[in-house]
Formats: sequence, structure tokens, C-alpha cells
Amino acid sequence: MDFSWNNEQQEMYRQAIQFARAKMNSNIIEDDRLGHFSREKWLAIGQMGLLGLTISEDYGGLDLDALSGAYLLEGFGYGCKDAGLFLSMGAHLWAVTLPVFMYGSDEQKRSFLPKLCSGEWVGAHAISEPQAGSDAMSMETSARLEGDMYILNGRKTFVTNAPVADFFLVFATTNRSMGFAAINAFLLERNTPGLQIESKTEKMGTRTSPMADIIFQDCHIPISQRLGKANMGFRIFSRIMQWERGFILAPFIGRMQRQLEDCIEYANRRTQFKQVLAANQAISSKIVDMHLRLESARLLLYKAAWAFDHDDPALSSSSAKLAISEGAIQTFLDAIQIFGGYGYTTDYEIERFLRDAIGAKIYSGTSEMQKMLIANELGLRTR
Ligand SMILES: Cc1cc2nc3c(=O)[nH]c(=O)nc-3n(C[C@H](O)[C@H](O)[C@H](O)COP(=O)(O)OP(=O)(O)OC[C@H]3O[C@@H](n4cnc5c(N)ncnc54)[C@H](O)[C@@H]3O)c2cc1C
Repeated sequence: MDFSWNNEQQEMYRQAIQFARAKMNSNIIEDDRLGHFSREKWLAIGQMGLLGLTISEDYGGLDLDALSGAYLLEGFGYGCKDAGLFLSMGAHLWAVTLPVFMYGSDEQKRSFLPKLCSGEWVGAHAISEPQAGSDAMSMETSARLEGDMYILNGRKTFVTNAPVADFFLVFATTNRSMGFAAINAFLLERNTPGLQIESKTEKMGTRTSPMADIIFQDCHIPISQRLGKANMGFRIFSRIMQWERGFILAPFIGRMQRQLEDCIEYANRRTQFKQVLAANQAISSKIVDMHLRLESARLLLYKAAWAFDHDDPALSSSSAKLAISEGAIQTFLDAIQIFGGYGYTTDYEIERFLRDAIGAKIYSGTSEMQKMLIANELGLRTR
């Protein structure tokens, strides 16, 4: 594996930082307070190509390999202070746009991908249900085939971007008794009759990334809007979750890097008991641990990306997600401690990063589920 960057990749990384600093960091404290999603920022990241990283240029994407994409996202995360946007972007790109690119018909790709890549549309991925979270395949939302129409009924919950989404990837079952073998994926536009978005869900963090439940009541969908072949939903879901797990947290690597640098600067500057904080081993060892945590999470991300570009990513993608989510939470907790009372204030913005990072242990599969996947890969007899 070779993780040295060529000039083009380094230039892309620098541009991502500059772009994020210039265009992404206004009003975040207020937007977080109000739970406001910015369409203006969304369109800007679309113009920058971030919403179509690994999608073919034919449909408006950047056509990057996975490793370059991960590095670009890392740069974006270094410059951008809005971790809610990381979630909205990740859900849109990895769980909606990429599946259409990988499994869509030519007609579906032509109709939907340019709007998804440019930022004209916001995408949402709906699989979780009130009674089917980690065990997503036990879903109850049904899709009954009548002639050339599917009729959807049911409820999806915790759907990121739903309040502002223009386009949905929805999973439903055609026969509950058949389990994963009867799962199907559907592509729906917002104005589809029978699709209703419930009022926004309030949450602890990632508040600039809105979330809601979706209800389907005799929602008629033409067969041409099924993604992939009949009963292929489980295969689609499994494959795209590997991508999502691998990459959705890539911007947090940049954010953790920035937090590390801020902690070093502060610990070298702030004086108590006539010496800088850095002179206390209790403080410097926290910062060394922060560095080790970041380096190991970063290498797992690169390894996962490299594996996507070469062979089977299953193990590395769960390991990367686990290491980044758990690492980010500990990093922001330690950073608050190092900054003392200031770290606890809203203005220093670390408390928001902590709140935002906690969600990363839950979405795209909880930490417990990532450990189950890794245990299976290691050959442990988990069942
Ligand atoms: C910020 C955020 C964004 C989200 N975005 C989306 C989205 O866009 N689309 C979408 O469909 N869903 C989304 N979700 C939902 C998310 O995927 C689920 O919350 C997650 O899969 C867990 O399901 P659950 O909340 O029902 O918890 P449960 O599955 O009920 O789990 C509760 C607890 O039990 C543990 N647990 C469950 N089963 C096991 C087991 N077998 N072994 C060990 N521990 C276990 C879990 O790890 C967890 O700690 C989002 C969630 C959050 C927090």
C-alpha cells in the first residue's frame, strides 16, 4: 500500500481546505441552535464536486478513486467546522447517489445523477424503522406489486435530510416471511403522492443536518423506479453500507487533525502556576494519545479506501468507522478538558464537535454492530 500523495492530490486537498474555510464556516453556532440546514452551502459543495466524488464525469461527478476521495474529504473536514454537513453530505453521496450510480438503469442514472451531483437535489436514504434499527432487515414497510406499480405502506424513522430532501432511496419488503430475500429498493421524488414527511426530529448534535420520519400511505411507484432487479435490495444495501461505513466519517479525520493542532497551540500558550500547560505530563500525554488515535484512525481510513480501489473492503471499512467515531469522541472530550472552562463554552465550538461526533457511534451501524461485523470477519463464532 502506498499512501504518498501526488501533486494533483495535494492540490485538491489544499483547495478543499481553502474552499471550506471561505464558504462553510459562517453562522454555524446560530444554525446549530436553530437546527438550520443551509441550501446555499449545499449548492456550493455541489459546485465544488463534493457531492459526486466517485461518480463518473458523464453524470457530473469528479470520477475520483476512493483513496483520493477520502483525502479530499479529509481536507474538507480540516477546513469545515460544520460536522452536521459531514452527515448530510455523507448520507446523500454514499447512501443515495452512489447506489444509483452502481445499480441504476441508464435512464435512472441520466434522470437523477446530474441533479444529485450538482446539489440541485438533496438525497435521503430511508431504511430504519421504529421496530427495525440495527436489525434493519426485519422491516415492516411493505411494497405490494399490482400490475406495473408497487404500492408502499409503512413508516421510516431517523431519516437524515428528510425535511429538505428532494429525492429518496427507500427500502421495503414484498414478503415479510422471506426476510432479506424479499427486500427491494425504490427511488422516489418528494412530490410522490402518498409520501409524507413528518415534522423535524430534534436531536443532540448534527443539528444542521435535519432529520424526520417518513410515512407511506398507498404510495404508488412505477416498476421503473425500482433500483436494481426484483428482490435485490439486501445486496444493494449490504454493498452500499460498506462504502458508507468506510467514508462517511472521513471529514472527521481532518477535524481531529485541526483539534490536535489547536490543543498543541493552546497547551504551549496558556500559563497556570507560572508554567505552560504543556509542561504538565497530564496534559501532554492527553495530546500524545490524541495524536496516536488520529494516526491509527487515519491509516484505517486510507487502508479501507485502498481496499475499495483494489479488493474486498469489508473488514477495513468497519474498523475505520469504529476507530474514527470512537476516536473523535475521545479527542473532543480531551480537548474540552485541556481548554478547561473555555472548552465548555459554545463559542469555542468544541462542545458542538463532541455532540456531533456522538451521533457517529450510532448512524451507519452502531459501534456494537461494527464490532459484530469485525468479529465475524475475524472468524469468531458469533452465532
Ligand atoms: C444522527 C443519526 C442519523 C441517522 N440517519 C439515518 C438515515 O439517514 N437513514 C436511516 O435509515 N437511518 C438513520 N439513522 C438510524 C440509525 O441507522 C439507527 O439508529 C441505528 O441503526 C441503530 O438502530 P436503533 O436506533 O433502532 O437502535 P437498536 O437497534 O434498537 O439498538 C439499541 C442498542 O442496542 C445495541 N444492539 C442492538 N442489537 C445488538 C446486537 N445484536 N449486539 C449488540 N448490541 C446490539 C445497539 O448497538 C444499540 O446500542 C440515523 C441515526 C442517527 C443517530
